[in-house]
Amino acid sequence: MTLHLRWAAVTDQGHVRSTNQDCFYAGERLLVVADGMGGMAAGDVASRIAVDAMVSLDVAIDNEHQMDALHKALEVANGRIAEKVAGEPALQGMGTTLTAVIFSGERAALAHVGDSRAYLLRDGRLNQLTKDDTYVQMLVDQGLIRPEEAAGHPRRAVVTQALQGEPVSPSYVIVEPEPGDRWLLCSDGLTTVVPPEHIEGEMLAQPDPQTCADRLLDLALQGGGPDNITVIVADLLPGD
Ligand code: CA
Repeated sequence: MTLHLRWAAVTDQGHVRSTNQDCFYAGERLLVVADGMGGMAAGDVASRIAVDAMVSLDVAIDNEHQMDALHKALEVANGRIAEKVAGEPALQGMGTTLTAVIFSGERAALAHVGDSRAYLLRDGRLNQLTKDDTYVQMLVDQGLIRPEEAAGHPRRAVVTQALQGEPVSPSYVIVEPEPGDRWLLCSDGLTTVVPPEHIEGEMLAQPDPQTCADRLLDLALQGGGPDNITVIVADLLPGD
């Protein structure tokens, strides 16, 4: 069965930050969120480089080549960040998260580095498909804190891995898409403020992707909007 994406995306600098260093792309077969960080406020440079490097993936890609294509694009993104920093040492330390999903009809393939997230709403339940590359997630994994303690932890913003022009270990996930699937890609400006049960509630309550994305952004802003917020809501629908 052929499926197509119907998406809506919003991004906002929030109430505290003076710039928006998040960057996103949404197309016919590709969704990307990148959250720039560090290095003399050059996060926006890093997130833009990363998203631009992924855009070539918004085409039909055979199932067997999906992972390879994702991996190569990620390497290109990382290489371009390294080149940029080599040419402009003031940008040293800049980096970006990257969460990208490609849909070729029969499969969806996800690549992830950092603390942006991808969720899949299916059968009325919201599942987080990515695992944060963060210090607090490491503490959760080691059983040192409970998952519900992570959001309020003083070191919650410490990212253990990002695209910074150095070797990274991205994680990859393959999903068999089903009609009616609803995807959410977002930066941590949403998830550090809005608890997962509220996100799930809005994902279930708002049939229209744009209304849903707007509503999630509103919740993050009402929660103080301490960081840049990016939200992509995408429905998988049957037909062309
Ligand atoms: Ca952020």
